[in-house]
Amino acid sequence: MRAVLLHVTGVVQGVGFRPFVYNLAGRLGVTGWVKNTSDGVFAFVEGDSATLEAFTAAIRLEAPPMAVVDAVVAEDVDPEGHASFTIIASEAVEGAMTLVSPDIATCDACRSEMDDPDDRRSGYPFTNCTNCGPRFTIIEDVPYDRPMTTMRDFPLCEECAAEYKDPADRRFHAQPNACFRCGPRLYLNLIRPDAGQPADAGTYAWTPGCDEVPRPHRDATDERGRAEAIIDRTIALLRDGGIVAIKGLGGFQLACDATDEDAVRRLRERKNRWGKPLAVMVPSIAEVSAYCEVTHEEEALLASPSAPIVLLRLKRAAAAPPGGSNIPHPLAPSLAPGLRELGVMLPYTPLHHLLLSAFGGPLVMTSGNRSEEPIATGNAEALARLWDIADGVLMHDRDIYSRYDDSVVRHTPGVGTEFFRRARGYAPFPIAAPHPSDVDILACGPEQKNTFCLLSGAHAFVSQHIGDMENAETLASYEQSVALYRRLFRVSPAIVAYDLHPEYLSTKYAHSLGLPSIGVQHHHAHIASVTAEHGVSERVLGVALDGTGYGTDGTIWGGEWLAADWAGCERVAHLRQLPLPGGAAAIRRPARMALGALAECGLLEHPGAAPLRGRLAAGEESTLLAMISHGLNTPRTSSMGRLFDAVAALAGVRDDAFYEGQAAIEFEALADPAADGAYAFGIAEDTGGMLIVDSGPVLEGVLDDVAAGVPAPTISARFHRSVVAAVVDGCLRLAPALGITHVALAGGVFANRLVIGGAVAGLRSAGLVPLTHLRLPANDGGIAFGQAVVAWARRHEV
Ligand SMILES: [Zn+2]
Ligand SMILES: [Zn+2]
Ligand SMILES: [Zn+2]
Repeated sequence: MRAVLLHVTGVVQGVGFRPFVYNLAGRLGVTGWVKNTSDGVFAFVEGDSATLEAFTAAIRLEAPPMAVVDAVVAEDVDPEGHASFTIIASEAVEGAMTLVSPDIATCDACRSEMDDPDDRRSGYPFTNCTNCGPRFTIIEDVPYDRPMTTMRDFPLCEECAAEYKDPADRRFHAQPNACFRCGPRLYLNLIRPDAGQPADAGTYAWTPGCDEVPRPHRDATDERGRAEAIIDRTIALLRDGGIVAIKGLGGFQLACDATDEDAVRRLRERKNRWGKPLAVMVPSIAEVSAYCEVTHEEEALLASPSAPIVLLRLKRAAAAPPGGSNIPHPLAPSLAPGLRELGVMLPYTPLHHLLLSAFGGPLVMTSGNRSEEPIATGNAEALARLWDIADGVLMHDRDIYSRYDDSVVRHTPGVGTEFFRRARGYAPFPIAAPHPSDVDILACGPEQKNTFCLLSGAHAFVSQHIGDMENAETLASYEQSVALYRRLFRVSPAIVAYDLHPEYLSTKYAHSLGLPSIGVQHHHAHIASVTAEHGVSERVLGVALDGTGYGTDGTIWGGEWLAADWAGCERVAHLRQLPLPGGAAAIRRPARMALGALAECGLLEHPGAAPLRGRLAAGEESTLLAMISHGLNTPRTSSMGRLFDAVAALAGVRDDAFYEGQAAIEFEALADPAADGAYAFGIAEDTGGMLIVDSGPVLEGVLDDVAAGVPAPTISARFHRSVVAAVVDGCLRLAPALGITHVALAGGVFANRLVIGGAVAGLRSAGLVPLTHLRLPANDGGIAFGQAVVAWARRHEV
């Protein structure tokens, strides 16, 4: 008889780990105990040597599907002569950290129970088990036990309690376990946005205080009837063209019939969201393939436990008239005007499954917020903020502790899975630190698409997508999240990293902490984030192409070739600087950017400039030209994003943008892959030895084509090809002299499928090794991790 104490770390709580260990012990006939602590799972196991070895190996090999085992440390201890194997109470270990699982889409077993009319959870909108359901969004502290979650005020009924206590049950120690009798329930408040606040919100309305705690046990049959009536009423609203706010896992979503053009337009109007595409939730994969091309990889992403929004290529609209909709029948044309991709997801909560199968078609499912604000999470908050957007608010009384947006991914052949927004289903699972850190670091992230990162030991906890840090609401949400991550993962930052832009709220927040601080240049952070994900510590050539990033010289960068390792970074080439007349105003009006580019390159009198100049009012043009020539409120920028805007405007795609990059995104969408030719960037050395990638010749080529009546899809294809060539040629000129073979690609411009696909292929065939992000977005959502790694590499400076 021997005994071992096993210490298992990783994602081992809230994923059915203790029942797994308990059942394993029963199968192998060992005795002892298992317990959760805030430092992972501990198991004391007694048996003969061979069995203990088999037991230890099985912990790793047979772990439950949602578990991620980082390490199993076995220590020989004295046997204590246990008679059986038991699960003992959890305990908190001072200062210790354990990982927290992301929220997981409803599993197949739970789904079949919902669909089984004889099951006691038939039609229950909040069913879950140890393999699925809410986790991160309901947890307030560790260890992960019901009293530490927003389920604490739902006392289990006898049946649920029996499942919870039965080691053989799928719901053994499932903290959010619930049923019609004892669990969360639905509420539906009816509203008439056009008529103001409702006088009578309806039979099933939620009112403040109606869900007092602790919740009473209810009659299951009554509750099922109530849920069915609420779902029916909701479906009727949706079929009527109504907009319904739905409380999801991490916040409210706004839903409407995705085939009803009037409803989709009404949603855009009320939400004040123009231009940006809307995501769609579809009942099944079979239905997705009616509108979109779906590869095996994309299908796997859609159906994965993370169930993200996947950007899929739309099938061609049948017999679309010239200039007509790009959206295939029967989807509403204004879902994604001018685009060739649609964001699609499958139902991922029981409530979504009930709604989608009752509705039987695609629903728009977009974040429940007014533009620019964080998504609403509380019931009272949703009623106060969404009453003039939604015709009905479908709520429940399980509180959301953390905001959690839908994640957005894409699969590009030759590149892999790319993240655009990393949140539900992925965060807060850490990214591996490239090197164990002996000091805790908080990296505050950028302004747009903000995430922050806490680096501690072997882990980098990159937060879920927080949003654009442009208002007090988002800042408040950010501060709450930082506090939660610090608490959950027991991180006490001793160093803080921040973006060099002095006006970013994240930068100001960093300075307010009073900690030793390290400023990290925006594009250096972009590149370090890529290389750290790959564990590449040596110097690489980084190509950072994006919209806006504060440069070390105080100008706006965004078309940069950098020789960079984690500690340092040297700008070795950049795109020719162009004027940005009116600063941020030029981002919303690409026509301004185009005029500035023409003025800078002496191309105003080119015949190809006539259409653009004809579209500008005389007063606007003269004002802009005066601003440019006097350098008045006209910063200069080497941004590739802005060059895309300028060329899109010259090609006649769009003069005004509802959101940053809209012109560039639509310009990409209309590229004609069959068109041949390309323009050529100039490459020349300036007096300081810096390579300047000159867009002048490209702009001239574009104007020649415009003057010759070449259609925009051809101009787009040629421009994309020239950008790819500039990336590759720039690297080929720089890499040999620097003795570098690895090229890291990052920045929002690499969201462009043609640019990233072309650059990766071009660099490979040129004999270089392209590195792209693996689990983090190439846009500013990936910056915080890079900031943390740079600060770690420079930790001895402060
Ligand atoms: Zn389940
Ligand atoms: Zn129950
Ligand atoms: Zn950026």
